[in-house]
Amino acid sequence: MEKIIEIQHLKKSFGNHEVLRDVNFSVSKGEVVCLIGSSGSGKSTLLRCINLLESPSGGEIIYKGQNILNENHDVKQYRTHLGMVFQQFNLFNNHNVLKNCVVGQQKVLKRSKEEAERNALKYLEIVGMDKYINAKPSQLSGGQKQRVAIARALAMDPDVMLFDEPTSALDPEMVGEVLKVMRMLADQGNTMIIVTHEMEFAKEVSDRIVFMDKGVIVEEGSPDQVLVNPKHERTKEFLKRTL
Ligand code: ADP
Ligand code: MG
Repeated sequence: MEKIIEIQHLKKSFGNHEVLRDVNFSVSKGEVVCLIGSSGSGKSTLLRCINLLESPSGGEIIYKGQNILNENHDVKQYRTHLGMVFQQFNLFNNHNVLKNCVVGQQKVLKRSKEEAERNALKYLEIVGMDKYINAKPSQLSGGQKQRVAIARALAMDPDVMLFDEPTSALDPEMVGEVLKVMRMLADQGNTMIIVTHEMEFAKEVSDRIVFMDKGVIVEEGSPDQVLVNPKHERTKEFLKRTL
């Protein structure tokens, strides 16, 4: 399988707080990887380092064979290949739904308005939000906002989608509609890295589960290996608390 992103010996500190310690991780084309672990274990920091919202303190991030932390690498270009979905949606509240899904394509990918709108509509339809193109985010429920955020990320035609607890800020009755969209994307062969506390979902969609604790990957493997037959004491402890 072609590795899209490979992370080697990644380190990240905030001041003298070492948050990621020698993380080695990769994702291959079409793979769905769920990242689990207690709050504070470094999951968000890992995602944020992958898309360079945080700059790593050490290690390498290799994208399609190139170390993107090399000084001469075009970081802006690299970031266009990653789509990110945040817990708090991060929609542009002053723009309507359609414009939310269009501005990035125009500004970053230099697409024409027509092309960007066509592409936005395609993905808004996929997430079931094409009826709401003129709505402002404030008029939408949390589940609807998150589906728009997913469409916005997809509209950039990324190679990898990163999700950071996309359902954690939602009322319980809206979790299902967002997971349903993500399940569909997983089935369609999208490459996805998902931080989640939804264990049932993780078990169903993941090709691989990665368990992090205190800034290191403790254990990874198939859902069965990690969630049903964990090897490590720390994984067992975490699952006991979570399930
Ligand atoms: P998780 O997503 O697994 O809950 P995080 O990656 O958000 O964990 O955080 C890991 C640790 O890094 C926590 O102790 C958190 O307080 C710390 N941390 C995260 N971001 C920052 C930051 N910008 N400045 C200082 N400390 C941070
Ligand atoms: Mg987090």
